Amino acid sequence: MKEQIPTKHTSGAPTLVNNFLRLRLITKTLLTVGLCCTLLGCAKNPDTQESPKTMINNVNVVDPVDGLIAQQQVVIQEDKIVYVGPIDKIKTADSDIIIDATGQFLMPGLWDMHVHFLYDEALTDTMPELFLRYGVTSVRDTGGDVKKLAALREALKGIPAPRIYFSGPLLDGEFVIYDGSDPSRPPLGASVLNAESAMSTVSTLKTAGADFIKIYELIDPATYSSLAAAAKEFDMPIAAHVPLMMTADIAGPIAGSMEHLRNIELACAVNWQELLTQRQAAIAGFTEGLGYTLRSDLHSAQRIPAINAYDETRCNEVLDTLTNTIQVPTLRLNTILMLKPFERPDWPSAATALPQKVLENWQASIAMLDANNLSIDHTFANWSQFLIARLLERGVPIGAGTDAPIGFGIPGYSLHTELELLVAGGMSTRQAIYAATVTPAKFLGLEDTMGQIKADMAADLVLLSENPLENIEHSRSIINVMSRGLWVE
Ligand SMILES: [Zn+2]
Repeated sequence: MKEQIPTKHTSGAPTLVNNFLRLRLITKTLLTVGLCCTLLGCAKNPDTQESPKTMINNVNVVDPVDGLIAQQQVVIQEDKIVYVGPIDKIKTADSDIIIDATGQFLMPGLWDMHVHFLYDEALTDTMPELFLRYGVTSVRDTGGDVKKLAALREALKGIPAPRIYFSGPLLDGEFVIYDGSDPSRPPLGASVLNAESAMSTVSTLKTAGADFIKIYELIDPATYSSLAAAAKEFDMPIAAHVPLMMTADIAGPIAGSMEHLRNIELACAVNWQELLTQRQAAIAGFTEGLGYTLRSDLHSAQRIPAINAYDETRCNEVLDTLTNTIQVPTLRLNTILMLKPFERPDWPSAATALPQKVLENWQASIAMLDANNLSIDHTFANWSQFLIARLLERGVPIGAGTDAPIGFGIPGYSLHTELELLVAGGMSTRQAIYAATVTPAKFLGLEDTMGQIKADMAADLVLLSENPLENIEHSRSIINVMSRGLWVE
């Protein structure tokens, strides 16, 4: 979560998915040669009683592991890929619908590893549709009310919609950063105080449908360990911010992913021990006030001095503990005041898809930023970009996430910006696509069924007119998106 961006939170209960139901399924006739049944309406083959098969023919497959595989046939039945291979006349005859994709590129559906459906409930209903529009077919919701998220996922069942994996609330300490006490910051957090409440909280989240847990910044080290033990007990991966009372090399290896690269700067400082001691003392002495203020004050006091005290040898030691912990840098968010998303030429037209009320709030926030004409320190933005190459060199896995809609993050659209920033930071185009496909699947242990275009994998696909391996900006050249075996408009 970004603490400084004045994006306004608007309240109001989500009616969940009403708008989304408007998503139309594209009839196969649009793209097919020959047959003209629709995906939903096509009757089973009377001879075999099989569901219809769709073939995407003569397409260049973008594989996040092996790169480009030219001129393939990809056959889809129901919500799965059933065949991928070289052009084969028998497969063609066997398919009900054939899409000629000569000269086009087929990429696995993208993931956004860090989103918040409930950050602004005026936007919740629109988010699924926006994600799909931009080829984002799966997301991790990294903080919000577990019951509302479970209801959202339930409401999207059976229609083209992104797959939602959620954590439930940000698990925080005695003070809760997102406690809902300020109307501009929604109540995304919950307090966990000891081993007992750690176990009962994780148990409740599991029962409510959570897929992983999210540990936040004011948790104390003992409760962090208790939450990790509870997560293990209930077989749930952990996404974490580095707790303020801990360092990245201690907290990180226990988690499956860490968010925003935040607090790594402290661990990488030559005087990290001194900074940590100061931080722990400040937290111990904090007896009343807002958790949000406590965190902001610590970040403001220590972040830049820590970056200025960067020690590469120490940092390498820290990064070497993180080779099994996915870093989700959210570069888009970290660099937002340096590389303003709303100054991109395509931003205004993308923003028109936002609900009017949300767009007005965002425009007001942008106007405020401009009016204040703040002299903004870009040290953390530059540090975040710098760290990508360090992570790559030390073999630390990187995942693509945006924190949308926080910080003017248009759902779906902003993931493509993140991919561009990862490439600018030193990743190859293939690595960036891997970070938005295979890596997130791995976080959830789903890499055998998601993240690539292979037989028996999920039919979540993005058809492109240009090659994203050649230029990552081509990930935006979307012709069509398939979600769970269904084309969406
Ligand atoms: Zn977040």
